[in-house]
Amino acid sequence: MPDITDQRFTPHDHRRCIKAAVAEATRICNERNGRLTEQRKRVLELVWGSHQPIGAYTILEQLRSEGFNGAPPTVYRALEFLLDHGLIHRIESLNAYTGCSHPGDEHTGQFLICSRCHEVTELDDPAVSRAITHSSASIGFAATHQVIEIRGLCSHCQALPHDQ
Ligand SMILES: [Zn+2]
Ligand SMILES: [Zn+2]
Ligand SMILES: [Zn+2]
Repeated sequence: MPDITDQRFTPHDHRRCIKAAVAEATRICNERNGRLTEQRKRVLELVWGSHQPIGAYTILEQLRSEGFNGAPPTVYRALEFLLDHGLIHRIESLNAYTGCSHPGDEHTGQFLICSRCHEVTELDDPAVSRAITHSSASIGFAATHQVIEIRGLCSHCQALPHDQ
């Protein structure tokens, strides 16, 4: 799978990102006997519609306009399936979803969220995860799940004039 993360701040043919994500998801689902139905696949494509996270409601409306089942439980189940298989992540602070740039590897997320353009980049630095696990353990807390959302400006937005 091409490294999607490196391309995200430079202009690129995003259709290739979507294609790569769907191909990788198909491979992972086949391996685990997960059923990537047409609807689930379309939800994945919509989450991968850009490198900015997308809300469930936007996905739901888009599906309806395409003649898919846009009932909220169906859409949330599809998102749940994609989350369970590590194909997408939920960004809590934005209440939105983003495609995982290296699905299949077991990882906890550190997300860099640009306050200006809302693009999200995964960091997934194991040293950070280990530091949290160790610090938590030192006060007797067994950390099982860590999601860190970090706000700031992406390199692209830092280069823009301030009042734009
Ligand atoms: Zn892209
Ligand atoms: Zn990920
Ligand atoms: Zn930005």
